[in-house]
Amino acid sequence: MRPSLLNPLFAAVTSLPGVGPKQDKLLRYLLSRDETPRLVDLLLHLPSQVIDRRARPKIRDAVPGTVVTLEVTVDRHRPPPPRNSRAPYLVYASDDTGDVVLTFFRAKPGYVEKLLPMGEKRYVSGTLQMYDGIPQIVHPDRVLDEEAIAKLSGIDPVYPLTEGLALGSLRRAIAQALQKLPALPEWISPEVLRRCHFPPIAEALHRVHQPVELTDILPDQPFWSRLAFDELLAGQLALALIRAQLRRPAGVRNAGDGNLRNKIIDALPYALTPSQRTAAAAIADDLKQPVRMLRLLQGDVGSGKTVVALLAAAAVAEVGKQAALMAPTEILARQHIKTIAPLAERAGVRVAILTGREKGKERRDILARLAEGEIDLLVGTHALIQDDVIFKALALAVVDEQHRFGVRERLALTSKGEAVDVLVLSATPIPRTLVLTYFGDMDVSELREKPAGRQPIDTRAVPMSRIEEVMDGVGRALQSGKLVYWICPLVEESEAEGTEHLTNATKRFESLQKRFGDRVGLVHGQMKGTEKDRVMAQFAAHEIGLLVATTVVEVGVDVPAATIMVIENAERFGLAQLHQLRGRIGRGSEASTCLLLYSEPLGEMSKARLKVIRETSDGFRIAEEDLKLRGEGDVLGVRQSGLPGYRIARSEVHGQLITQARDEALRIMKDNPKLTGERGEALRCLLYLYERDEAIPLIGAG
Ligand code: ADP
Ligand code: MG
Repeated sequence: MRPSLLNPLFAAVTSLPGVGPKQDKLLRYLLSRDETPRLVDLLLHLPSQVIDRRARPKIRDAVPGTVVTLEVTVDRHRPPPPRNSRAPYLVYASDDTGDVVLTFFRAKPGYVEKLLPMGEKRYVSGTLQMYDGIPQIVHPDRVLDEEAIAKLSGIDPVYPLTEGLALGSLRRAIAQALQKLPALPEWISPEVLRRCHFPPIAEALHRVHQPVELTDILPDQPFWSRLAFDELLAGQLALALIRAQLRRPAGVRNAGDGNLRNKIIDALPYALTPSQRTAAAAIADDLKQPVRMLRLLQGDVGSGKTVVALLAAAAVAEVGKQAALMAPTEILARQHIKTIAPLAERAGVRVAILTGREKGKERRDILARLAEGEIDLLVGTHALIQDDVIFKALALAVVDEQHRFGVRERLALTSKGEAVDVLVLSATPIPRTLVLTYFGDMDVSELREKPAGRQPIDTRAVPMSRIEEVMDGVGRALQSGKLVYWICPLVEESEAEGTEHLTNATKRFESLQKRFGDRVGLVHGQMKGTEKDRVMAQFAAHEIGLLVATTVVEVGVDVPAATIMVIENAERFGLAQLHQLRGRIGRGSEASTCLLLYSEPLGEMSKARLKVIRETSDGFRIAEEDLKLRGEGDVLGVRQSGLPGYRIARSEVHGQLITQARDEALRIMKDNPKLTGERGEALRCLLYLYERDEAIPLIGAG
């Protein structure tokens, strides 16, 4: 249960005076919550800027266009004439150097009179403008008396807002929430506090919301950093606690004597690369440990991850348990089963596939065999995480292209067994910081070298104006029996607005068909699975030589004989995507060519991307460049610059803190894994505050 100490912070924002149903709706939207936000959500909504109101010039010296705070005496009110409610309410005020007009549009009756009483002294702050040669402030941001101004620093926070939500009302709500902040215990260790110069949490919250210095709200300063560390520590500790609970019962191990693995290796038409061997050995070792595996297998497209995954599944099958391999698309799932099935068969490993396409009796049969333990490895798509998919003894979940799945899907799959080992396959090297925030401590294996016999790909950028030459070249290639991909960005114009000038795959297919006749085929995402397969099979069998495709061929498709790829509107694709696409060629022993067709003029970003892709085919380098160009958030497909699932920590600013939080979490797990005593209580508080408390029931009362 949440410590009662925290209750005030988890009260609904609507409990604050001045926050009604309308604000509730706006705040839900602003703070991305399905339900009414709580005070804690407000407090963790940090300012993006400040307004400096400390300039206090005399009226005569005030610079038009700047924010000033004027000390004035109220001389005269001029309400709008009764018949003209759209005219502004004017207030004339002055100091000993000149006059200023304060202008209010559509003021509520009585409001201005109360705000600026005749003859009184007031401090008025806002942007000064000149109107007809007279200084004027339209809707002053603040009007304060002597007492009120003494309490303010003159630096106002500015928050990210949403349409319809006034800055002033958000500020007031946050200020009220701050007043409800209870005295919280310190959960950060004294060493870290000292080393990082962190203030106590109350001070951190006060200073970011009520800045005293202009720099107080910057993410790299101690106040924001302290909050970011808290958030990261909560995340790391939660991951560590969950992981610690996932020990297997004594004596349970998920890898056998190697007999199935050896049979597979004997059946391979090639030798494993050294890094494939190292990775397979590391995985087998993990599977034998009493703690479950959490390992990332990174390898460029074509580096041979599938066979390593199969060896892992075989190890599990050796002890009579089951494995699942989940891929993000149907094509990719089928590609896996195509590679896997013949090898598995010879070793006696029983495999099956389950996607949205297996229906009715076929699906029922698969599920029945799965529940009986008659399938050792089930390959599939999202279809694997449906409720009625029940394994007899799931011990290993392999997730391909993880960043397309959310954490939820990963958990849904692993919850189908007990202490399930997890192997994540990724062709895009995931930055260390993201691995840590997403998975906590995860082991990483890399497939660095390409399988032997691969030829480099000759990549060129060609402007759209030379498409005729490209078509002629494609014609010659077809003549000599080569297999050519022609990639287009979108299927139908309706898919996205304002993209009419992007080549439409269907149209391109038609124009190429006119020219090359029935040697041309088409696959796109909106085709039925069976239809897609049929066309792909025709391509692989050389029945068609030119395959027009959308990005459905991006992942996994394996037609080693294909040696030419034309990518239309290449400037529209991301770097990682271009690399993935290009990875479909250069898979056999013949030299390959990739033509990047682009529309002019090219933007800076597109230019940089095409340059990188032309210069290198090293996936790790490309991923690094991609990161530099786009920022980390995008690699996992999350919006803005934040870390996935984090509100305050930012990967580009707090990268260092992630490692420190991880170390701190590990230290806690070593010294006080049950979170007992005063510090333990404080840490529980932290987990609840940042809503990472899912692991607390697992550790019991302590
Ligand atoms: P990816 O890492 O992109 O998933 P795959 O596992 O699909 O790569 O492998 C790409 C191709 O390379 C497949 O046709 C596979 O059979 C082949 N392959 C895998 N390992 C080797 C190897 N050591 N030597 C030669 N070919 C290999
Ligand atoms: Mg693959």
